Amino acid sequence: MKPAPFDYYAPTTVEQALAYLAEHGDEAKVLAGGQSLIPMMNFRLVQPAILVDLNNIPDLAYMNPDEDGGLRLGAMTRHHQVEVDPMVAERMPLLHDAMPKIGYPQIRSRGTFGGSLSHADPSAELVSLSVALDARFRLRSQDGERWVPANEFFIGLFATVLEPGELLVEVALPPMPARSGWSLMEVARRQHDFALIGVAAVVSLDENGRCQHARMVFLSAGDRPMQAHRAAGVLAGQAPTTEAIRAAAEVAASDDIDPSSDIHATAEFRRHLATVLARRALEQAFKRAAEKE
Ligand SMILES: Cc1cc2nc3c(=O)[nH]c(=O)nc-3n(C[C@H](O)[C@H](O)[C@H](O)COP(=O)(O)OP(=O)(O)OC[C@H]3O[C@@H](n4cnc5c(N)ncnc54)[C@H](O)[C@@H]3O)c2cc1C
Repeated sequence: MKPAPFDYYAPTTVEQALAYLAEHGDEAKVLAGGQSLIPMMNFRLVQPAILVDLNNIPDLAYMNPDEDGGLRLGAMTRHHQVEVDPMVAERMPLLHDAMPKIGYPQIRSRGTFGGSLSHADPSAELVSLSVALDARFRLRSQDGERWVPANEFFIGLFATVLEPGELLVEVALPPMPARSGWSLMEVARRQHDFALIGVAAVVSLDENGRCQHARMVFLSAGDRPMQAHRAAGVLAGQAPTTEAIRAAAEVAASDDIDPSSDIHATAEFRRHLATVLARRALEQAFKRAAEKE
């Protein structure tokens, strides 16, 4: 299939891109890595009249360290750049672990950080990870800019709070809390496929070795990244014993997620996998947190 006809703009600055987007409103679509958009256009699932290509805007591709230990990533930073950067490995080990799981090397050489987040596929690693890591997104339009926390950015299946004319320009990742540990567990039918289900966990311990903070965010478990609030409540203030972890994993899989059945797996099978993955992810995350003490 070939896409329906469209007009094409290739701005070289963010301001030019925002001007095109403001002029054409919801008739325009942004082209980032094209790894999701181009197949959708080829299948005519989307037919934008205008394509605004961000690939000639060098100002949108960067990774900068924040003084507090966090990171700032420009929206057009390619997955591969994030995957191989030693600063990411040092400051955001959870993100570093996740990058090789995103599709294939070809996808990662073109796909972008901002494109994956804007596409808002609930099966995408970065979508759930951004919530697990408490990321904030900088959105710009001709009228100004606003910051949106990751847990408010995703509002449904392939749906975000991005308005027509708005561009995701930057993602800010805060440093992980002290005495914290992380884990990402997934099950996929084949290596590099989208996961049938997965979970990212970030936990931290207080000075008595009790759970100070626990966040689990599931992918492929609902219409958006599914944050396990009830399971976090089970762990709060508790010693991370085998029993506490097991109880939290069961609550997460039964009460916090909303998986559906499709040709790849039933909802029941996904819930079963979620229990196992949540338990393993919490065990690994708490072990890593304890090793930091
Ligand atoms: C075979 C295959 C396997 C894959 N496997 C995985 C996987 O295992 N895990 C995973 O997470 N992903 C996977 N992907 C998706 C991949 O990560 C894509 O890179 C990603 O979904 C889209 O990023 P992109 O930069 O290519 O964006 P594009 O395809 O260019 O754009 C996607 C959408 O986001 C919008 N957009 C892009 N950038 C911005 C911006 N800065 N501001 C506002 N809107 C914007 C576009 O208009 C479009 O609607 C796979 C893709 C393919 C083709």
